[in-house]
Amino acid sequence: MSGLQNLAILGATGSIGLSTLDVAARHPQRFRIFALSANERIDELAELCLRHQPRYAVVAQAVQADALGRRLKRCATEILIGPQGLERIAAHAEIDCVMAAIVGAAGLVPTLAAARAGKKLLLANKEALVMAGPIFMEAVRTHHATLLPIDSEHNAVLQCLPDSFSGDLGSHGVRRVLLTASGGPFRDAALERLQSVTPDEACAHPNWVMGRKISVDSATMMNKALEIIEAHWLFGATPEQIEVVIHPQSVVHSMVEYADGSVVAQLGNPDMRTPIAHALAYPERIEAGVGSLDLCRLGRLDFAAPDFARFPALGLGYRALKEGGTSPATLNAANEVAVRAFLERRLPFLAITAVIEAVMNELRPRPLASLDDVLDADATARRHAELQIEAMTVRP
Ligand code: NAD
Ligand code: MG
Repeated sequence: MSGLQNLAILGATGSIGLSTLDVAARHPQRFRIFALSANERIDELAELCLRHQPRYAVVAQAVQADALGRRLKRCATEILIGPQGLERIAAHAEIDCVMAAIVGAAGLVPTLAAARAGKKLLLANKEALVMAGPIFMEAVRTHHATLLPIDSEHNAVLQCLPDSFSGDLGSHGVRRVLLTASGGPFRDAALERLQSVTPDEACAHPNWVMGRKISVDSATMMNKALEIIEAHWLFGATPEQIEVVIHPQSVVHSMVEYADGSVVAQLGNPDMRTPIAHALAYPERIEAGVGSLDLCRLGRLDFAAPDFARFPALGLGYRALKEGGTSPATLNAANEVAVRAFLERRLPFLAITAVIEAVMNELRPRPLASLDDVLDADATARRHAELQIEAMTVRP
């Protein structure tokens, strides 16, 4: 490996951001924390800045910049504000590697800016790729960015593909990509039980500690729907080549099946520091702080087919992928609005996917030619989702 890499972490105070800092701090000779961003939790960001002494910190608003500035009086960190600040650090000439770990559509513009600046781009923010797939991948190709997936499933698929993988599954003899899914906290719950699910129950994932939005996505299985679309763009897999397998232990992180019948899997303890370390050091391997997998203690690994009736989000994911154009952006935006309404107790759990389906039925897919088309589809779907939520909750 050559020299010290300057690292920018977009979304440093989140679950992925903190795990990234944990791994990077184990290898100070490899990684220098050059820029950190946060939307809220300014006290936590201040602590991180004091510990890692980044050149830049980005916050959402001027009042937060003032608050952070007061905490960082003795620190040389320069404070930047808002989306322009995020774009500036994502594309900064001195940055080698960008961890895109902002949650949701808010991450799209800075993540795309990192791709357009030809960075080594570690993609946790799957929503950005789902919304803007063709535009995003075109930016990666044109500007020779190195795109490495952080999502454990896609990182596993990357590890199961040959090093020479060119983006064409067929030419490498790949038959299928098998994405594993834990099934979330309600894998076996009765449908009537799901009617009264609270935000805290939905966020209590059995295997992973994650931000609240992705935790709800895991409970509805919309997370897997987004990951189906993500797998399409990352690996060129058609909807027919992507299969979802329920695997409650979250030890097999995903698999690739080849034409000769071989199935190659990547296994490990469920700890996001593994895919993060894999991508940070790629193609080398480094210590991530993750213990050895004890298969004998585990004893068994279970697999089952997903239940498309209990988890309609899965079908919506395949539908959006097949429809193409603006459909994945519509799916993603409606989901973000519905999940927020659920977390704010304005919408029952089971209505999340009902809202998304209704919005997809209302908004026919249009072609996607530019970032403006993506942002327009996102805004339109958000408006329609809010109207759906009002209609669903105002009824007597
Ligand atoms: P999180 O909620 O813990 O953290 C989100 C981060 O984004 C925080 O630093 C927050 O300040 C920042 N942020 C939120 N809204 C913002 C906005 N409007 N503008 C700027 N910054 C904003 O989320 P997380 O669990 O770390 O997930 C981050 C991303 O990684 C998501 O896209 C998620 O799908 C993906 N991901 C997470 C995991 C996991 O284990 N947590 C696994 C796979 C993929
Ligand atoms: Mg995942």
